[in-house]
Amino acid sequence: AKESSGGNYCFYESGMDFKSLDSIRLESDLNKALQNDEFVIFYQPQVDLQNKEIVGVEALLRWNHPTRGMISPLEFIPIAEETGLIVPIGEWVLKNACKQIKEWHDKGFPRVYLSVNIAAQQFNQKTLSSLIQQTLHETGLSSEFLVLELTENAIIQETASTLCIMKKLKELGIRIAIDDFGTGYSSLGYLKNFPIDILKIDQTFVQDIVQDKNNAAITNTIISLAQNLNLNVIAEGVETHEQINFLLSNGCSFMQGYYFSPPVCKEEVENLFLSSKKI
Ligand code: C2E
Ligand code: CA
Ligand code: CA
Ligand code: CA
Repeated sequence: AKESSGGNYCFYESGMDFKSLDSIRLESDLNKALQNDEFVIFYQPQVDLQNKEIVGVEALLRWNHPTRGMISPLEFIPIAEETGLIVPIGEWVLKNACKQIKEWHDKGFPRVYLSVNIAAQQFNQKTLSSLIQQTLHETGLSSEFLVLELTENAIIQETASTLCIMKKLKELGIRIAIDDFGTGYSSLGYLKNFPIDILKIDQTFVQDIVQDKNNAAITNTIISLAQNLNLNVIAEGVETHEQINFLLSNGCSFMQGYYFSPPVCKEEVENLFLSSKKI
């Protein structure tokens, strides 16, 4: 049977896969969610503690379901991936988030960059770089303000075509981040072959860096690795002052987490910009 993150999404019985009625409904609802305009993009600030400012925002998708209310991406992204709907949904996120960032720049808000999650299936579409190029062109957002967050699992599949796609993306001038770094099933070899700019330390390592010696060691190793390879490094899931002190004293000043702000709607981002001296 298939693993599920939502709990009761699939269950196993007498050697066959059955989808729960609930997940079938969710799947057919997901089909209509785009055309019914039910998706909302939230944004979570990424801060640079050195200058104490918001430097970027990560776009995080929310589904405002007509009867169930807000549904977490942990619940519907796996369904979107399984059904292929992640491709049009991902395209929608990219276009709308780029448009929003450009609007903020034009309004005189801080010139933050946008970080967008790209699913494995989207990445392996041969058309990804032309989609990005077209989106930047249509929205007027300059490529220096776009970061794509890829997971290790998305990029290890086909090494030759991955390198080719990445080179095309780099030619556009965007940056590439490895999301959840260290949690995927891949060797470190890709770091020297692929044009990667940023490592994101997964929140499971950051969560208890102060108490857990192993997580502290892993986090420090990722920070040094990034420094030695000349990459930027950002810690996610930062919730406490102790974590901030630890990260700063070990050379990581880019952070993202509830300590600064949870993902918020666009109006809330504007409030954060206006009061960003608080950080
Ligand atoms: P992710 O890309 O690793 O995003 C980080 C997740 O950690 C987000 O959950 C965020 O709300 C949460 N988070 C941020 N700071 C903290 C913190 O301090 N503590 C804790 N405990 N959590 C924190 P979210 O928004 O529920 O998204 C879950 C996952 O869904 C994302 O994980 C990403 O894999 C996926 N996802 C979300 N939006 C998109 C999208 O537009 N496209 C794709 N392909 N995947 C997406
Ligand atoms: Ca991410
Ligand atoms: Ca992550
Ligand atoms: Ca994650």
